[in-house]
Amino acid sequence: MPTFQTVRGMRDLIGPEAEAFTHIIAKARETAELYGFKEVITPHVEPLELLSAKSGEEIRQRMFIFKDLGERQVALRPEFTASIARLTTTALKNEPKPLRLFSVGTVYRYDEPQRGRYREFWQSNFELMGSAKPEADAEIVLLTNSLMASLGMKGFAFKIGHIGVIRGILSQDGVDEKTQNAVLQRMDKKEYDAALKLVESEKCRGMLEGLIEIKGNDWRDTVEQIKSFVAGYEKAKAAADNLAEILMLISESADITLTVEPAFARGLEYYTGMIFEIYIPELDIALGGGGRYDRLIEAFGGEPTPAVGCAQGIDRVAIALQEQKAALGTKTGKHVAVTPITEALKPVALKIAQQLRAAGISVEFEVMGRKMAKALEDADKRKVDYAVIVGERELKENCVMLKNLANREQSTVHIPELAEKIKN
Ligand code: AMP
Repeated sequence: MPTFQTVRGMRDLIGPEAEAFTHIIAKARETAELYGFKEVITPHVEPLELLSAKSGEEIRQRMFIFKDLGERQVALRPEFTASIARLTTTALKNEPKPLRLFSVGTVYRYDEPQRGRYREFWQSNFELMGSAKPEADAEIVLLTNSLMASLGMKGFAFKIGHIGVIRGILSQDGVDEKTQNAVLQRMDKKEYDAALKLVESEKCRGMLEGLIEIKGNDWRDTVEQIKSFVAGYEKAKAAADNLAEILMLISESADITLTVEPAFARGLEYYTGMIFEIYIPELDIALGGGGRYDRLIEAFGGEPTPAVGCAQGIDRVAIALQEQKAALGTKTGKHVAVTPITEALKPVALKIAQQLRAAGISVEFEVMGRKMAKALEDADKRKVDYAVIVGERELKENCVMLKNLANREQSTVHIPELAEKIKN
């Protein structure tokens, strides 16, 4: 018989890894709640047309595309934003703005697999639709900051830029949108020479080269540098002003470590404003990122709707927490194994297990028909807190044996008091 492996780039998550993912997802949900985002669940498979409309060449070439049996061209979602934009133009079309939408699940990209880069990976995703104001951008950065902090992540820092600065320069110097996209894609990969080669105008090349040099963690100072550098480029200057407003709101309201990098670009083509990524010193891959995309909804046939959003890569956040040896939240509930001593006692033992579960206690019922000693040995190995042993003699007194597996103490406990005794 052949042994089966997972498809390349896709993983099974088991034991502590699965627990870490569940923990991160729970924190993302809590953050959504704290910031007023409502969860939506959308399909993993979407029309190819929708997914390829605006995400950019880079992602288009890495999609899992297939024809379904009805000859429809479909693909596995490579991100959430297109699905959320679709929702905004259909089912949620008449909802009052702003819309704050949260999603979590797997997405698919045909990337070259390596640590922190998979073909199936998990994202938590937040989209705030309907506001063009800097406070909406600030909220998205702040919630990312809150989520990282709530996970106990240390030393994380934001890299923040504004796509309007680069586009403002390129468009004023006559670079068409298609070339702009190609330039931004190279810049995203830090292939600056390749990016510059695409630009014909020497003046414009000089501007880009200068922009690449600007970066700093004193945001006021860096924004001032950007502003004087782009003097004469009206749109780029407006973008720098917008970035300054966002940074002011963020830095006034939270303690955030950030670097301002105006030449920083992101792979997705639809960004129109502020963009950001988040890093920790131990890893050179981004844990999450996002930005403003004001024209995507209308590209999908909706009313012009400004929007800003972000996504966190849960696989990478898990790696980061592991690197930093962060605790994944202590489990407080007690864990119990219930074992009947004889076959005949199975029904009553199962009834006791149900009573304990109803009281919120996690119970493993003995399903292997093992003798007491074997069952206890196994419970011990699996770090169960208590063994509840259901025996004929104790039952006559409406009691069971309760064994504390940590200190080996054993006592006879009256069944009506059992749950309380275990909990305390
Ligand atoms: P994006 O949707 O490209 O903005 O990516 C958002 C986040 O998803 C990134 O910052 C990463 O943390 C994560 N991510 C992107 N691609 C991958 C991948 N192939 N494997 C794991 N995580 C990824």
